[in-house]
Amino acid sequence: MADERAMDEVVTFTSDLIRIDTTNRGGGDCQERPAAEYAAARLAEAGLEPVLLERTPGRTNVVARLEGTDPSADALLVHGHLDVVPAEAADWSVHPFSGEVRDGVVWGRGAVDMKNMDAMILAVVRAWAREGVRPRRDIVVAFTADEEASAEDGSGFLADRHAHLFEGCTEGVSESGAFTFHDGDGRQLYPIAAGERGTAWLKLTARGRAGHGSKVNRENAVTRLAAAITRIGEHQWPLRLTPTVRAALGELAALYGIESDLSDVDTLLDQLGTAGKLVEATVRNSANPTMLDAGYKVNVIPGEAVAHVDGRFLSGAEDEFRATMDRLTGPDVDWEFAHHEVALQAPVESPTYLRMRAAVEEFAPEGHVVPYCMSGGTDAKQFSRLGITGYGFAPLKLPEGFDYQALFHGVDERVPVEALRFGVRVLDRFLRTA
Ligand SMILES: [Zn+2]
Repeated sequence: MADERAMDEVVTFTSDLIRIDTTNRGGGDCQERPAAEYAAARLAEAGLEPVLLERTPGRTNVVARLEGTDPSADALLVHGHLDVVPAEAADWSVHPFSGEVRDGVVWGRGAVDMKNMDAMILAVVRAWAREGVRPRRDIVVAFTADEEASAEDGSGFLADRHAHLFEGCTEGVSESGAFTFHDGDGRQLYPIAAGERGTAWLKLTARGRAGHGSKVNRENAVTRLAAAITRIGEHQWPLRLTPTVRAALGELAALYGIESDLSDVDTLLDQLGTAGKLVEATVRNSANPTMLDAGYKVNVIPGEAVAHVDGRFLSGAEDEFRATMDRLTGPDVDWEFAHHEVALQAPVESPTYLRMRAAVEEFAPEGHVVPYCMSGGTDAKQFSRLGITGYGFAPLKLPEGFDYQALFHGVDERVPVEALRFGVRVLDRFLRTA
């Protein structure tokens, strides 16, 4: 069991890391180095030998390895990103980079995404150093840059250029899982992520015949583009249930005493009510038009019109996604990937999943652990290139009314001190048994 000092340190570290502004606006505009140096110093104090790695100056990643007692065991990666999305101070109740601890709650950008987990990892590793704990498997700890943008300076760079640091790692754990999801009806769910949809950010280009706005023009690029994005936006994607989503629906149905009829998932989701929200975004692919760009003058028909679409596809459903896009865009509109990331699928019966579940159940016996698939993506996508199966496991016990998912990238992001302490206990237990 993690000691009292770990219970204090997790709060201090969360607050300190929030105070180090690592806002990532994309396009390379971010400096993670001070946060990386902070994390590395905390690891070094615990006798570890962290290495700092940069592809771009200031975009710093930290990697360290704890040697396990069983050299034949596969290693486990435990990772957290150091950057955060922007925060507009005027919208917040407290300054987003104050790290203020008020009434038992730590406030600020990164409080749940994901300086909380970074702090928990540091607190556990340091408690182990004090106690002389050695894990069974090697544990590789990584703090990354650039997760909130392309990951090119972060996990992508580490996976492509420093694979040796992750040698032996077969599984990884990181953000977006094992938080309390209150169903509004007295039940507390703890969803552990065992999969992610893939990312398909598309650029659509319609070409046509440029000309005067007063003339007949059947090859108008703007009209062609508008038709294509209307087809995409209104498309009804068919159900595609991955093993994780299937397991999630089955377990939720059993918990709620509903017959699990997977031939009518939409009805099942309705019957599950609030809990259905954990699953509804991941039962099918999706594609939302989000940006439009065409023309420069009202009486000039441009020869080209451009749109961007945020597409997401499930594991095993990427070919279908591509074929559907070919069909919906039609012959006059080209599409290409502006950004592409794989979908992930992790087993929900693996020893590691079962150990995560047992660790949560030990400290939250009233809770129900269920698997789920993330609708978006994390650094686990990049680490999957190294053959690492990724889970979302950053345990937090949250009171009712505390909408974790709304706080992600939201205003007044914050985390209760008690949630952090629960996280340390659960992470400590899981990693000791991993
Ligand atoms: Zn995150």
